[in-house]
Amino acid sequence: MENYIVSARKYRPATFESVVGQHALTTTLKNAIATGKLAHAYLFCGPRGVGKTTCARIFAKTINCLHPTADGEACNECESCVAFNEQRSYNIHELDAASNNSVDDIRQLVEQVRIPPQIGKYKVYIIDEVHMLSTSAFNAFLKTLEEPPHHAIFILATTEKHKILPTILSRCQIYDFQRIGVEDIVAHLAYVASKEGITAEPEALNVIALKADGGMRDALSIFDQVVSFTGGHITYRQVIENLNVLDYEYYFRLTDQLLGNKVSDALLLFNDVLNKGFDGNHFITGLAAHFRDLLVSRDPVTLPLLEVGASIRQRYGEQAKRCPLTFIYRALKLCNDCDLNYRASRNKRLLVELTLIRLAQLTTEEEEVPGGRKPQSDLKPIAPATQPAAPRPVTQPAPAPQPAPQPAPAPARQATHAQPATGQAAAAHVASVLNAQRTEEKKIPVVSKGGLGISIRHRQTEEKTATATQPAADIQAPEPMPEEDYMFNERDVNYYWQEYAGRLPQEQVAIAKRMQNIHLTMLSDTTFEAVVDNSIVAKEFTDLTPVIQNYLRTRLKNRKATLSVRVSAPTEKVRAYGRNEQFQMMAEKNRALLELKDEFGLEFA
Ligand SMILES: [Zn+2]
Repeated sequence: MENYIVSARKYRPATFESVVGQHALTTTLKNAIATGKLAHAYLFCGPRGVGKTTCARIFAKTINCLHPTADGEACNECESCVAFNEQRSYNIHELDAASNNSVDDIRQLVEQVRIPPQIGKYKVYIIDEVHMLSTSAFNAFLKTLEEPPHHAIFILATTEKHKILPTILSRCQIYDFQRIGVEDIVAHLAYVASKEGITAEPEALNVIALKADGGMRDALSIFDQVVSFTGGHITYRQVIENLNVLDYEYYFRLTDQLLGNKVSDALLLFNDVLNKGFDGNHFITGLAAHFRDLLVSRDPVTLPLLEVGASIRQRYGEQAKRCPLTFIYRALKLCNDCDLNYRASRNKRLLVELTLIRLAQLTTEEEEVPGGRKPQSDLKPIAPATQPAAPRPVTQPAPAPQPAPQPAPAPARQATHAQPATGQAAAAHVASVLNAQRTEEKKIPVVSKGGLGISIRHRQTEEKTATATQPAADIQAPEPMPEEDYMFNERDVNYYWQEYAGRLPQEQVAIAKRMQNIHLTMLSDTTFEAVVDNSIVAKEFTDLTPVIQNYLRTRLKNRKATLSVRVSAPTEKVRAYGRNEQFQMMAEKNRALLELKDEFGLEFA
C-alpha cells in the first residue's frame, strides 16, 4: 500500500456543502460571507471530530477566494484556493493551543497578525483547543482580540466551552457544533466505502457510527481500522466481534424470552453474554437501550428517534408490536433501577439475574391481575413454562397493603401476545420488503429532538379498550389517569411532594415552606405518612390531604397512593434521617451538592 492516507484526511470536506451533519451552521457561515458581515472573532464549540477545524479551514478559504461561486462556496480554482488546497497559503495560520500554549507562542502569533496578506483579503488565525492557553498567554492574546487589524480574523475552537473566559466569549461570535447523527455518519461512511471500492453491510456501518458517538473523525478512523482487518468486505459480524459490541441479536432474543415468561432461557442467555466477556452493567444498559428503541418504534411520530440501520428497523417494529406498552414502561424502569444499583451491589450478577426474573414476570402480572392492580414487587417461583398450569387462588384480597409472599406456586404462563421468534425465512422476507421500502424511508418526517412527545392517550385506546374502569380524572392533570397503577418508592413520593410544594402560589408560601420540611415515610407500598410537630399543623394538612393526594396520585400514576397525617409522639424523633436523607436535607440548602454528586457520579456506599 503506497502513500496510505487515513480516510479522515483523504475525505476531509473542501466545501461547506460537503460538511456532514452541520447544515444549519454552514448555511449561516455561508450567508455571513455572502452578505459581507464578517466578525473578527469566532468561537467554534463542540465535541471532538465533528468538523470545527474543517469548517474553520473552509471558511478561511472561502473568504479569500477570488471568484466565489453563486451559492457562496470557494471556487477551488483561483490562485488563493489552489494555495489553500495545497496547504501553502500564507493566509491561514493554525495554532494548536494544546501543545503551543506559552506566552511566547502567542506573542509570535500576535507579531504575525500585524502583517497584511499579500494575496486575498484576510488572514485567518485558527487557534485549536483554545481553552488550553496559559493564563499569561490568554492575557497577551486578549489585547489583539480586542483591537484586531482589519485583515485579521480569529477562529477559536474548543471542546470545552465552559473553560473559556467570559472576556473571550463576549468578543466572539459563537457557533455550537452538534454531534453528528448516526444516519449522516452511516451515509458518509457508505460514500467513502464506495469510493474506496469496499463493500460494507449497512448494519456494520451503523455499529461503527454508534461507536463513534457523533464524531465523524472517530467514525472514519474506526472505519479504517475495520477495513484493515476485514480486507475490503465489512460485515456486521466482524465489526461487532472486533469492536467488542454486544450483538443486538441477543436483545431481540431476550425480549422474546421475557415476553414468553421464559426465565430460565433468559438466565442462560445472560450467562452466555458474561462468558463472552461483557460485563453485567454493559448488558443491562444495552437492554434498556433496546427497550427504549422498541418504545420509539411503536409510534410513527417518534420513529425518527430510532438510530438503527434500515434492515433492522422492521425488526424493531415487529417486536414493538408484540410488546404491550406497560411492559416496556416497567421494563425500562426495572433496567434503570438495576443500572442505578449496580455499582453499589455486592453481588452484581445476582442483581442482573433478579432483574431478568422480574422482567420475565411482567406479562404474567398483567394477565393475572386484570383491571389494573399494583404490580407485584416480589418474585414468583420460577416454573418451567411447560408445567401444567395450576389454578390461582381466587380468594386473594384485592387491595393488598403489604405484598405478602405468595406460598402457592404461581406458574409462569405463556403470554398470549408472544409469538414464536421468526426464523430465517422471515428475515429473508424482511430483507426483500426492506429493499422495496428503502426509497420510502427518506420521507420519514423529521421531528426536532426537543419536541419529542409520546402520546400515552393515543396509545391506550389502541392498547386496551376493554377495561373501561377509568377513575374520576384529576382536574389538574393534563393526562388521564393510567389504567393501572405504577409502583413507586419513598423517593418518588417525596419528589412529587416537593414538586407540589414548589408549585404552590405565593399566597401559600407558609404551607409550601412547611411541606418542604416534611419528609414522607412509606407505610406500605401505596400508603405514606407525613409526621408533623403539632395538631394545628396536622389539621392544616388534613384539610389539604384530598388535593395533595390527588396530585400525588396523578404524578405517581397510582390511584391507590394514600397520604395520612400524624402528629409526632412526644418521645419520637420527628425525622430519623438516614445518610441519604441527610444528604438531601443538605442539598436542599445548597444545590451545589447535588451538582457535585451528579458530576462525579457519587453514591453512598
Ligand atoms: Zn477560489
